[in-house]
Amino acid sequence: MVNSLAKHYSPLVNRTIDPLTEVTTSVGATEGIFAILQGMINEGDEVVVLEPAFDIYPAQIQMAGGICKYVALEYNDKEKIWKLDMAKLEKSINKKTKMLILNTPHNPTGKVFTRNELEDIRNIVLRHQQVTVVMDEVYEKLVYDNKKHVRFASLDGMWDRTLTVSSCGKTFSCTGWKVGWIYGSSKLIQPIMLANQWIQFCVSSPTQKAFSDIITISDQPYEGFHDYYSYISNVYEKKRNHLMESLKKGNLDPIVPEGGFFIMANTSKHTFDAQYINEPGPTGASPVSRDWGFARYLTKEIGVTPIPPSAFYCDETKHFASNLARFAFCKTDPYLQEARVRLEKLGKK
Ligand code: PMP
Repeated sequence: MVNSLAKHYSPLVNRTIDPLTEVTTSVGATEGIFAILQGMINEGDEVVVLEPAFDIYPAQIQMAGGICKYVALEYNDKEKIWKLDMAKLEKSINKKTKMLILNTPHNPTGKVFTRNELEDIRNIVLRHQQVTVVMDEVYEKLVYDNKKHVRFASLDGMWDRTLTVSSCGKTFSCTGWKVGWIYGSSKLIQPIMLANQWIQFCVSSPTQKAFSDIITISDQPYEGFHDYYSYISNVYEKKRNHLMESLKKGNLDPIVPEGGFFIMANTSKHTFDAQYINEPGPTGASPVSRDWGFARYLTKEIGVTPIPPSAFYCDETKHFASNLARFAFCKTDPYLQEARVRLEKLGKK
């Protein structure tokens, strides 16, 4: 599998990747990130993540003894984009900062970082030599509206500073396979290999072999498209457009995602019975936050279930998610059509 990955990524990062020392496999991206943190983070090291943040990051940072520092991605309603304040990002970095975790395309916002943004981040990273960048690029092939996924590791000077994590789950619609990988300079890959000796040891070989065969043929024409990757992003772009329309019909205010397969929508035009907020949540605490209440209301009364995005915020900032809900469009077309019918009912309430 490492040979196929080295072959696939070498042209994408403009260098010849050594399959044995610059690529390693993991049990999905989830275990890949876990191994990076276990291999590189010591008690008290700080790790910067962008909020809203995929919820495994803070949990795994804590498990490694690290301290999570958050910088907010802020939604700019006028420009209709999620923005990162570079000054705030730089301010969050100090001598204890060991790592910066970035995710593009981003879960849950759907933001795809532009080359300019990534170059600004690179300039910050160049000023802080102790920082390693972990790029979570699991949605790398799912980018829409002719936008481009830019690999941070391909930027000038960033190969030696970056670990890139990805997996087969999103691109090949097989999240249960749990086949993931990490590529980067051998100096950065080595601690992960050492950590993995004591975690999963190896990824099951039948799935490695199967995935290796898949990635080898995915560059070939597929279903009338130049390759499998253009086919799958086209499929998801149509699904995104369909769900965007359905959410609008439901009197929700969706934010267009540029990549990935989630849509964040503003739910503030809706009111619902207080019971949905007053029922205790999974920890037994009551009342739950408004976004939880809305997710329950929509599930029980309309039959469509979003994720409450407060799960992607820390305790101090959870309130930013009060009026948000995250919807997924990685569903079959009949399923999305049924969601349309149900959301239309919501719109008429
Ligand atoms: N990173 C992000 C941003 C994700 O959204 C997910 C899955 N939800 C993962 C990593 C996990 O990937 P895998 O299934 O390969 O472990």
